Amino acid sequence: MTNAKAKKTSKKKSTGTTFVVSAPSGAGKSTLCSRLMSKMPNLKLSVSYTTRPPRKGEKQDVHYSFVTEKKFMNLIAKGEFAEWAMVHGNLYGTSLKRIRKLNRDGYDIILDVDVRGAQQLRSTCNEAVYIFILPPSLRTLKKRLKDRSTDSSETITQRMKNAGGEIAHYREYDYVVVNDNIDQALKDLESIISSTKLRTERADHGWIKNIIR
Ligand code: ADP
Ligand code: 5GP
Repeated sequence: MTNAKAKKTSKKKSTGTTFVVSAPSGAGKSTLCSRLMSKMPNLKLSVSYTTRPPRKGEKQDVHYSFVTEKKFMNLIAKGEFAEWAMVHGNLYGTSLKRIRKLNRDGYDIILDVDVRGAQQLRSTCNEAVYIFILPPSLRTLKKRLKDRSTDSSETITQRMKNAGGEIAHYREYDYVVVNDNIDQALKDLESIISSTKLRTERADHGWIKNIIR
């Protein structure tokens, strides 16, 4: 088989890998995910539904699909969610349809979910890779939330209250990344993604068979 043909076959058969990422609010998960996606064009974020109001600069169906509680309840009833949870007083959910489409199109997917969302996904999405992002300290976490200037002081207090409980779940994840220096954290995430994609069980076995045919 020629190299070009082998490449074509490989591309056709590739299926995406799912990375589930959790972190306490303010740890830098959104910043890291968006920088990762600009470095890795095959990596896409599944846009979640939420009842939280948009922050300044957040766009409908880009950062989230912002919906009313009534609409969210409707989506639950219709079985739209792979998982959903109440987080910091708002509802968030991952669309099953959206992740299936990204998967079918061969993309690697990032699911940005809280620890309860990740727990639900573990029962249905066994082959996914689970990553927990930590801030270097709770003091830095609070500073990042304050400096981000997107949340009221009540919201920041609530998010800081929840942080310890969320961090307590880090052992449920396959990898832990500390986001102190952002470039290092980005490198760590890239390494996790690259090495996961090189795992033998994820190889394109049909394509390899063709090489030795
Ligand atoms: P999350 O999505 O986890 O809630 P964000 O990505 O919004 O957090 O980051 C929170 C704030 O911290 C943002 O203002 C972001 O620019 C900043 N930030 C993220 N990572 C770092 C870092 N390594 N060092 C300093 N500031 C950071
Ligand atoms: P934020 O309001 O700061 O964007 O997100 C708050 C929290 O909600 C974060 O911990 C984030 O991971 C979580 N979250 C975002 N989307 C989803 C989702 O679809 N499902 C679940 N379970 N959590 C989500």
